[in-house]
Amino acid sequence: MRPVGRFAPTPSGRMHLGNVFSFLLAWLSIRSQGGCMLLRMEDLDPDRTSDAFARDIRRDLEWLGLFWDRETEPQSARTEVYDGYLQKLRDMDLLYPCWCTRSRLHASDAPHASDGRLVYDGRCRNLTEEEKEAFRRPPCWRIRVPDRKYTVTDRVYGPYTEDLAKDCGDFVVRRADGVHVYQLAVTVDDGESGVTEVVRGWDLLSSAPRQMFLQDLFGFPHPQYCHVPLLVAPDGRRLSKRDGDLDLGALREKTEPGRILGLLAWAAGLLPEPESVRAEELTPLFSWEKIPTEPVSIRNIW
Ligand code: GLU
Repeated sequence: MRPVGRFAPTPSGRMHLGNVFSFLLAWLSIRSQGGCMLLRMEDLDPDRTSDAFARDIRRDLEWLGLFWDRETEPQSARTEVYDGYLQKLRDMDLLYPCWCTRSRLHASDAPHASDGRLVYDGRCRNLTEEEKEAFRRPPCWRIRVPDRKYTVTDRVYGPYTEDLAKDCGDFVVRRADGVHVYQLAVTVDDGESGVTEVVRGWDLLSSAPRQMFLQDLFGFPHPQYCHVPLLVAPDGRRLSKRDGDLDLGALREKTEPGRILGLLAWAAGLLPEPESVRAEELTPLFSWEKIPTEPVSIRNIW
C-alpha cells in the first residue's frame, strides 16, 4: 500500500521553524517511501484562523520546496461531516452534555494525571433531566472514555501508554459554541483521507491515545505515529509563534530556503554541518533512526 502522509497546519499565524521542522521530516519520510503527501488546513476555530494565513502557509511551503500532491478540504468546510460522526457516537450512547465552567475545571482540587494534565472528574456524566434543564446555556459535549489502556508505538519515542479514564477522563468533542474539537476532526480527516503516517511535534504525543480510541469507534485503522522533538532556544525555552524573528515572514527577508532546510536537517541529525541544501537532496539521507528524542536547540544564525 502506498504510504500517505499529511501537512496539517493550523492557519493561525505564519509558520515558525518548529512547524517547518515537523513538515520537513513528514515530507522526507513520505518522499523516501515514494508515498503521497496531503495538505489540510486545520481552520476549525474561526476566531483564530484565516484564509490569509492559509495562503501564506501554502506559499511558504512552496518556497521551501516542500510540495504536496493534493490539498484536502479545509476543516472549516466539514462541519456537517463531523456532525455525522458525532451522531454515530451519540447512537453508541457515548456522548453527554457538560456545563462545567472553566473555573470549576481548573479549581485547585481538580484531579490531575501524573504528568500534571487535568483529568475530567465526570461531574456531568449522570445528570438527571431536571438538572440538565436547570442550565440556561448551551453545553459542550463530552465522550465517555473506557477504563483501559491505549498504547501507541511511536516511530521515534517507542511505546507510549495512557489509561484514558485515569490519565485523561471524558474529553470534549464539541465546544459549547458549536465548534468541533481537534481530536474529533483530526481523527475523521486522517481516517477518511487514508493517512497512514502522522508526523508532528512531540507535544501531540499525548493526543494519540485519544485518537486511537476514536479510530477504533469509527472503524479506521491506526496510522503509524512519528512524533518529532520540539525545537528550543539555547536557554531551553520552546520556540513558538511568539518568536516572531523565527517565523517564515521574517526569515524570508533575511535568508534563503536552502539555509533553513540545512539548519533543520543538521538539527535532525541528517547533516554533519548546517550547509545549504535542497529538500530532494535530503531524501536519500533520511532515516527515522537518526532523529533525536531530546529537544533540539536552535540558534538564530541569521
Ligand atoms: N494542526 C495541528 C498544529 O498545527 C497539528 C495537528 C496534527 O498534526 O495532528 O499544531
